[in-house]
Amino acid sequence: MSPCLLLHGIGEPPAHIADMERPYWLTTEIFARIVELAQHNDVRLTLDDGNDTDVHIALPALLRAGLTASFFIPSDRIGRPGYVSEDDIRTLQVAGMEIGSHGRAHIRWTEVSDDVIAEDVSSSIDRLREILGERVRGVAVPYGACDRRVLRVLRALHVERVYSSFAGPDPKDAWLVRRDCLMADMPAATIERLMTRKYTAVDGTLSFLRTWRRAGEASMWRA
Ligand SMILES: [Zn+2]
Repeated sequence: MSPCLLLHGIGEPPAHIADMERPYWLTTEIFARIVELAQHNDVRLTLDDGNDTDVHIALPALLRAGLTASFFIPSDRIGRPGYVSEDDIRTLQVAGMEIGSHGRAHIRWTEVSDDVIAEDVSSSIDRLREILGERVRGVAVPYGACDRRVLRVLRALHVERVYSSFAGPDPKDAWLVRRDCLMADMPAATIERLMTRKYTAVDGTLSFLRTWRRAGEASMWRA
């Protein structure tokens, strides 16, 4: 039973970052502390949105610490100013990082039809597979906009692992991975507590029940 953290950009958000995304950017100091804590605790790290700080800031720090992380990239943003390029994605891959889909257009899947979700997911997976030369196993849900219908569509697409924004720890084989989303205004002590506490089966049951209320039977599925 271990937590999975959700991070976004690192450092000062550039001008093109939308107001609603800015509160998710973490300072380089907090990120350094997270990496330090991740070296000594059973915590998984994920980074969403494909900001170019993935390669300029996160990757060198992870490599120095001997850590890996998963990077979820919205395929429409690849190569745009401020976002990772195709070469950046291959650099992450060669460094042993996992690359996953974050959809194509970074839209809320709870607000569109099954067909639109399927196109958004499939086209992003296809684009990443072309870049990587290997299959893409994980999909992170944009905005954490996830309910049982979204999960049914992802299941039907044979997505191997879904990374949500439901909070709480998970067993390692969970199909639906809960993630604790870190925010700029979170006190360092809160982040440290998330990363260092020992999670028990009771914590797992509580987070399961919370997810059950929002996503129903889908949270029972295992990889
Ligand atoms: Zn996102």
